[in-house]
Amino acid sequence: MICRVCDSEKLELAIDLGKQPWANHFLEPDEIGKEPYYPLRVVFCHKCKTAQLDYTVKKEIMFSNHTYLSGITKSLSEHFKFIAVQIDKRFYKNNDVKSALDIGSNDGTQLKHYKDLGYRVLGIESSGNIAKIANESGIPTINDFFNLELSLKIGRKFNVINASGIFFHLEELHSATEGIREALTKEGVFIVQFLYMKRIMENLAFDQIYHEHLLYYNLNTIETLLNLHGLSMFDAYLAPTHGGSIIGFVTHRDRNCNPSERLQALRQAEIIDKSNDFAIYLAFADRIKQMKVDNLSYVDAAKRQGKSIFGMGAPVKGNTLLNYFGIGTNHLDCLVEKNELRRGLYSPGQHIPIIIERELQAPPDIYYVLAWNFKNEILANNQDLLESGTEFYFPVNPKDF
Ligand SMILES: [Zn+2]
Repeated sequence: MICRVCDSEKLELAIDLGKQPWANHFLEPDEIGKEPYYPLRVVFCHKCKTAQLDYTVKKEIMFSNHTYLSGITKSLSEHFKFIAVQIDKRFYKNNDVKSALDIGSNDGTQLKHYKDLGYRVLGIESSGNIAKIANESGIPTINDFFNLELSLKIGRKFNVINASGIFFHLEELHSATEGIREALTKEGVFIVQFLYMKRIMENLAFDQIYHEHLLYYNLNTIETLLNLHGLSMFDAYLAPTHGGSIIGFVTHRDRNCNPSERLQALRQAEIIDKSNDFAIYLAFADRIKQMKVDNLSYVDAAKRQGKSIFGMGAPVKGNTLLNYFGIGTNHLDCLVEKNELRRGLYSPGQHIPIIIERELQAPPDIYYVLAWNFKNEILANNQDLLESGTEFYFPVNPKDF
């Protein structure tokens, strides 16, 4: 195997989460026990410092029919709205004609906010069923994978290109980045939102490691990739989304934009904290092992006391966590989920049944919160349960919240 970014062969194993099923395929009853397992390992490139999976589940398997809906959580939709309003105010307030392209546009939640601000919008979404939902709600969406070829086929340029989370997914990394350069107007802004590996490690949010996430960037490493394709970052800030994300602002490199002070500060922090050193990754791997011991001891003790435990949420990342910890039907009776697309399904690997939240008969003694990134929203929505004694346990507890 060679590095996905720089082609170097100097890769070394950093984090091994064992063999796991593809986390985003919740199982129909007749699929239980038949799900294939794949290695889930993060390797580190000693040349360009990019952390990445050494095994790729084919994108056609992973992204053609996924069930994650971005519109479903209020805080995520509000975050998307904030982004759109901020971009418009900062760059395009006075433009009569403006356009936005969203790569990995999901159900169109991000583009809806741009449309409301007067943008001509286009979404690219690889999942057929979700692209359909977007089109039906009035957000024009192409059902395909974004790469240079598609960018040339679209043949238009955009003031704003948004890619949220997608930079972890890109199997065709170089072609897609080239496609972005091609589709961006001369003075356009590419907004890239990605999980920030430095923060993920500090927050012990290891469940963000799953097969869709092929790459785990720090600023240093994503800037290497962008620069390779004639793009450069001129501003960035940290957001708490998904346990630690960066919102980066990128434009054509030949504009020679000066990096903002806050971007320079973030770059400096990576140097001071040695965030691009292999040793940091090894230390992270050791702390994850300890989390497993601690979590098993907590759920085992609760079961010994006869308590009932339900998982809260059935997020994709929850499967990494459950499968790595070995928390299954012995511990959790069910996963309680809002997303109707997951009705009647079972978690891959552990085979825990999913129950739709509003159909729940009675609450458990303990909610084991897999959707921990919505901690504030969850605690706010469940005040009555908290008062009546239901415990909420957060296996991952980022300090950003
Ligand atoms: Zn490399």
